[in-house]
Amino acid sequence: MKKLHAPHLLRSECYIDGSWQQSDSGSTIAVTNPSTQSLIGHVPSMEKAEANRAIEAAYRALPSWRDTPAQDRATILRRWFNLIIGHQDDLASIMTAEQGKPLAESKTEITYAASFIEWFAEQAKRTYGDTIPSKSKGSRLITIKQPVGVCAAITPWNFPAAMITRKAGAALAAGCTMVVKPASQTPLSALALAVLAEEAGVPDGVLSVITGDSSEIGKAFTSSQLVRKLTFTGSTKTGAALMRDCANTIKKVSLELGGNAPFIVFDDADLEAAAEGVIQSKFRNTGQTCVCANRIFIHDTIYEKFTHLLAAKIAELKVGDGFEPDITQGPLINIEAVEKVESLLADATSKGATIAVGGRRHAKGGTFFEPTLLTEATSDMQLAQDEIFGPVAPLFRFQNEAEVIAMANDTEYGLAAYFYSRDIGRIWRTAEALECGMVGINTGIISTETAPFGGIKQSGIGREGSHEGIEEYLESKYLNLSGL
Ligand code: ADP
Repeated sequence: MKKLHAPHLLRSECYIDGSWQQSDSGSTIAVTNPSTQSLIGHVPSMEKAEANRAIEAAYRALPSWRDTPAQDRATILRRWFNLIIGHQDDLASIMTAEQGKPLAESKTEITYAASFIEWFAEQAKRTYGDTIPSKSKGSRLITIKQPVGVCAAITPWNFPAAMITRKAGAALAAGCTMVVKPASQTPLSALALAVLAEEAGVPDGVLSVITGDSSEIGKAFTSSQLVRKLTFTGSTKTGAALMRDCANTIKKVSLELGGNAPFIVFDDADLEAAAEGVIQSKFRNTGQTCVCANRIFIHDTIYEKFTHLLAAKIAELKVGDGFEPDITQGPLINIEAVEKVESLLADATSKGATIAVGGRRHAKGGTFFEPTLLTEATSDMQLAQDEIFGPVAPLFRFQNEAEVIAMANDTEYGLAAYFYSRDIGRIWRTAEALECGMVGINTGIISTETAPFGGIKQSGIGREGSHEGIEEYLESKYLNLSGL
């Protein structure tokens, strides 16, 4: 890793109740660089007892944080935002070292991650209730918004910083306290954020970050009577298990799960722009985002032309260690991810698909994979149903609007969708007909802290970011004020 300007950001303890702690057992998890397999450091392997201590600390910290005026909570969050921006280069280095993404992408993620803290610091001051016209004289009906309480967050490795801040920013702004368990592949980014939260003046226990055994900590979170909400970003399978476990204590849940995004290029589209959109949507983070284009539908009459355009752009992508200049594609997170991509490609080619570009492990070795273009993909192939989570762009063919909308919706997922068209009637029809939470129209990039991020169907419950994001951490309390 590059030498850090602020070496104290790199921690090997967890942050619980305002203090830095090792695990009770003394056992640790090794954190390695997926580009080089070299060791970066160790973090504690915590279990149930430590998780419960963090939860109890969050419960003790709740009354005072809840009662802190929103303006003052906002000031602390604003300081956290400034510190994250001030340490952007270091935070990006830590992220590239543990996650593998190109340094430029890590820097962009840090800006994006910080934007949620800034946004929710502002929203903290605007958690308005309603006044409701009463049916009877002498009474007034009012709603007030109150924090949900202690929240627990479980976050994934693909966006090691942003998936934390869009939960923690909203929770803390609303007056909730939170315990975060980051993915074991990328815990160092999470702990660095905790260092800066401490410096910003987030009070003890309001935000704890614990690393360790997923199922042990997950069980502590889901079974605790003190935790009132669980927020999770990760796979649909794990999300379903967590939701089941939350049922016993009727917790609120926010789930941001897998996707199978369709990306439709109609015959009236600007093909150059659409090809660029595929590159942005499909190949960002080496294809490891839940909103990556997973199935790319091209109208029959432009299929060959579009294939050539896209192939040329894919050939320009540069694979390698994220710290090297000009790299656009880092490694996949681990060997299982490589094997999954290989098995999806083997299935597709056995059913008639053709590899137009790439298709193999990269000559650099490790978990590097060639950016791949697959043509003549069809709906009977495994990759039409499974999230690829790798740098493979499969092109499907379609004949008309009704057919492609049916194809696009033929999935259990409903997170993001994209399409390119210049026809205003088609744009409205398609945007309304797609079964998903977010639609990119003539763009391959949709994420921003100002808009609601989330899915329908088996892609999840709830929204993050935007004015909707803070609502997920608030309860509405209705007051009937009578006898006036
Ligand atoms: P991925 O396959 O992308 O790693 P997962 O859904 O398995 O996605 O993991 C996302 C996050 O959920 C990670 O932080 C992981 O440690 C955590 N996790 C995985 N399994 C469990 C579980 N059974 N209980 C609680 N957390 C879990």
